[in-house]
Amino acid sequence: MRYAEQGFNLEIDLSRGSIEKVATDPRDTELHLGGLGTNAKILWDRVPPEVEPFSPDNLLIVSAGLLVSTAAPSANRTIISTISPQTNLMAFSMAGGFFAAELKHAGYDKVIFRGKSPDLIYLWIHNGKVELRDASHLAGKGCYETADLIRKELKEPKAQVASIGSAGENRVYFASIEVEKSSCSRLGVGAIMGDKRIKAIAVRGTKDVNVARPAEYFEICTEMLQSMRYRLDNPLQGFEAMLATLGPQALSHADDGFHIDNFAWGNARERKKGHWTEEYASKWEADQLQSMERHISCFNCPVKCGGIIKHPTLGRFPMKCYSKLTYPMAAYADLDFGFKMIGIAQEHGVDGYTAPQVMAFAVELYEDGILTDEDLPDFPTDSAERHFYLMEKIVRREGIGDILADGVYWAARRIGKGAEVYDHNTIKKNEQMFIKLGTLNPMYYLLYATGEKLTITQIEGGIPQAPLAPEDREAYVKDWVQIPTGKEERFKQFVLEWGDEGKKAPFWPDTDLLNELVEWQESMHYIDDSTGVCAGVSSFMPKPPYHIHNYPDIISAATGIDFDEDKLWKLAARNRNLVRAINIRRGLKKEDERPPDDHWKKRFPEFEAELLDNYYKFKRWNDQGVPTREYLHELDLDYVSEDLEQRGFLPGEAKAEAQNE
Ligand code: SF4
Repeated sequence: MRYAEQGFNLEIDLSRGSIEKVATDPRDTELHLGGLGTNAKILWDRVPPEVEPFSPDNLLIVSAGLLVSTAAPSANRTIISTISPQTNLMAFSMAGGFFAAELKHAGYDKVIFRGKSPDLIYLWIHNGKVELRDASHLAGKGCYETADLIRKELKEPKAQVASIGSAGENRVYFASIEVEKSSCSRLGVGAIMGDKRIKAIAVRGTKDVNVARPAEYFEICTEMLQSMRYRLDNPLQGFEAMLATLGPQALSHADDGFHIDNFAWGNARERKKGHWTEEYASKWEADQLQSMERHISCFNCPVKCGGIIKHPTLGRFPMKCYSKLTYPMAAYADLDFGFKMIGIAQEHGVDGYTAPQVMAFAVELYEDGILTDEDLPDFPTDSAERHFYLMEKIVRREGIGDILADGVYWAARRIGKGAEVYDHNTIKKNEQMFIKLGTLNPMYYLLYATGEKLTITQIEGGIPQAPLAPEDREAYVKDWVQIPTGKEERFKQFVLEWGDEGKKAPFWPDTDLLNELVEWQESMHYIDDSTGVCAGVSSFMPKPPYHIHNYPDIISAATGIDFDEDKLWKLAARNRNLVRAINIRRGLKKEDERPPDDHWKKRFPEFEAELLDNYYKFKRWNDQGVPTREYLHELDLDYVSEDLEQRGFLPGEAKAEAQNE
C-alpha cells in the first residue's frame, strides 16, 4: 500500500482524447517526495529542451503535494508545472485553496496533460469516473463564473474547479489558473492550459488517503496545530503586521504605508515617495473595513489569511492576501480601486504581480510619448480608468493589448523606439517583485539572481527581511529552533549584529555565512513545494511551525519512508538541482542571473560578479552555474550529468578529470 500519496496519476492525451490511470514508481517518492519534485522529474524525462512552450509535446502537470489531504495542517498546495511561454524555462506555480485535496481524495496525485484538444473542453474527475466534456458554452466566461456554471451543470456543488478566463484562452503570457480563493498565477501556466484548449478541471473525491503510522502522525500534527495557534496568539516582536504571525496577513490590517512608499514601480521610484499621507491612510483603512466581509482559509489551515470581498458592483468574491496592494501601487490609486480591479482580474485570470507591472509599463510609455493615441485610442486621462482600459485590451489581445499580453520583456522589444529602457524590472524575462530599494543587499542579490522560481516571495524566508531594531533581536534569536544543525550560533550572531555600525549591506556578512543563509532559505521552499505545505506557515515566515527539524518526522510518519535531516536536505538539493538542470539545457545562462537593473539604486558590478562566482562554488556548480558531475552523482542524478555532457553543457568525463587534477 502507498502512504500519503495515492500512487496513481491521470494521463490525458488531449489530441487523441484518451484517459489513462497510471501507477507511479514509489522510488520517485523517496528521491523527490511529490509535488514540485516529481513534476520536475517528469518534465526532465518527457519534455526535451527542443519542445517549445506551445508545442503539443509540452506537458501541463497539475499536482498535489505529498502531504496534501493528510492531517498535516496547511498542506494543501496545488503545484502546476510546465514550460513557460514567457521565459521558455520550467514554470511552477502554486496555489492554496481546496483543489489539490479534492484531487487526492479522488484517488490521484497528479493530472498530466499532453497534446492539444481540437475543441474547448473541461475535464471532470469524480473518483474513478473521468471524462472530457464539451466546454464550448463556457468560452469567454470568467474563471469564477465558469466554476459556478460547471458545478450547476454537474449538479455537484462540492466539486472543486480550476479554470482559466479570457487571458488563458487568448494565451496571455501571464495568464493564471484560478483555483477559487487562490491561483496558480506565475509564469503563464494559464496560457498553456488555454493553448491546450482546457477551460477547466473539475474534481470531486471521497476516497481515503492513508498514512503509514496514523497514531504517531496524528500526535505530530496536533503539536503542529498547537504551535500554529501559539504563533497566531503571540505575534513576533518587531515585525510589521504582515509577517508577525502566519500567512502574509495583508487582509487583517490596513497599515500598508511601508509597502506603498517603498515598493515603487520602476521609473516611479521618485514619484511614489510621500504617497502615503495621513489622509490617504484613513481612506485606505475605510475602504478595507467596508469591503472585507470575512476572513477565509485554505484546506485544513487555521490561519485565515484570505478574504471574502463584497463589492457594490461586482458582488462577493474571494481573494488572497497581497494582490490588494499590487494594482493600487501600479495605478497610484486607492484600495477601492484595488478591490474592484482584483475582482475583474481574477475573472479574466491574470497574474496579480505581472499584470499591474505590464499596465504601469504601458502608461509610462504613453506618458513619455513612445506609445501614442494611435496605439491607445480613447485612452482615459484618469489613472484608475487607464488601468481598467488596459486590462480589457490585454486579456483579449486587442490592438496594443496583443503586444502587452506577452509581458514587459517581449513587449518592450516588439515596441522598440527605446521601450527597452522601460523594461527595468524583469529577470530572466519575468516581472520580479516591484521593489525599488537603496543599496545592494547581498543576500537578496543572490536569492534574486539564482532563484529558479523567479518570484522572491517563493525563495526568501527564515531570516528577517531587514535588520531588526536592537531591542527586538534577543527576543528573536531566543528559541529560534528552526536553524539547521551546526549553524545555530552563527545565524543567531548574524541577526544580533545585523544593522550595527560596520555590519550593514553591501559588504557584510562574509561570503561563507552569506551563502549558507541563502541556501537555507531556498532549500526550505523546495521542501514545502514537494510536500504541498503552504510557505505561509513554513519557508516564507520568520520562526515558522514547520522547519528542518520536525519535517523528517512528519514525512516519515506519513509515508513510512524514513527520513532524517541529512536525507531531507539532500532531497531538497536534488530537486533544486534537477530544476536548474532543466533550465540549463533550455538555455539559462550565467548572464541571465542578474536582478533587475533598477532594483537597487546603488549597484556594485564587480562585487556582484564576485558574489555570484562564490555562490556558484559553494553550490558546487561550475563557473557557468552548471551543477558539476561529481555533485550530480552524489545527488543520484547521473542521468542528468550524462545528458548535460551530451548536450555540451558539461565537459566530458576525461576532460573533467584532467581539469580537476
Ligand atoms: S496560511 Fe493562508 S495561504 Fe497558507 S494555507 Fe493558510 S490560509 Fe491558505
